[in-house]
Amino acid sequence: MQSTIQVHDKHFEVFIEKNVIEHRINELASQINQDYEGKRPLFLAILNGSFMFAAELMKSVTVACEITFLRVSSYQATESSGKVHQILGLLENIEGRDVIVVEDIVDTGLTMVEIKAQLLAQNPASLSITTLFQKPEALRQPIDIQYIGFEIENKFVLGYGLDYDGLGRNLGDLYVLCE
Ligand code: 5GP
Repeated sequence: MQSTIQVHDKHFEVFIEKNVIEHRINELASQINQDYEGKRPLFLAILNGSFMFAAELMKSVTVACEITFLRVSSYQATESSGKVHQILGLLENIEGRDVIVVEDIVDTGLTMVEIKAQLLAQNPASLSITTLFQKPEALRQPIDIQYIGFEIENKFVLGYGLDYDGLGRNLGDLYVLCE
């Protein structure tokens, strides 16, 4: 197996193999199955990055559930307030629903804090978050995440849905930027 790859101008090496990732996703699904027994959660998967995680997770979720996909737009508001994230494409009424947000990676946490606030404003019965990867050292705002796949070091990663300038989302293993 070739373990180092080039994407655009950068080199990446295998960091977490596909079978390890998928084993862990299976564990997250088991936990969700226990916690949501008798409920009918609505999964909100954030595109593009979470498509592979969401697909794998759903295969092991056994409680009755629904899934829909959202995008988050990011734009510069003012120089002082920085970037603002807005949810696009949420057509479902989430009032009174048990919502589980499905994210690829939480880095600074700023995106997730804003998504969470916008979803809570719509009065779901409950809201929890699952992210496949989290970089604890990069976190700039405290945020409660109920289901975390892997805590990883603060380095740029690629694969398993995550891209580098559009490429690499299709890679089954997770890669990390070579030093
Ligand atoms: P945050 O607002 O938590 O800083 O950013 C979260 C978003 O940044 C993720 O949904 C993802 O799109 C992107 N991101 C953060 N870290 C990485 C990384 O290491 N690799 C890739 N490909 N995207 C990342």
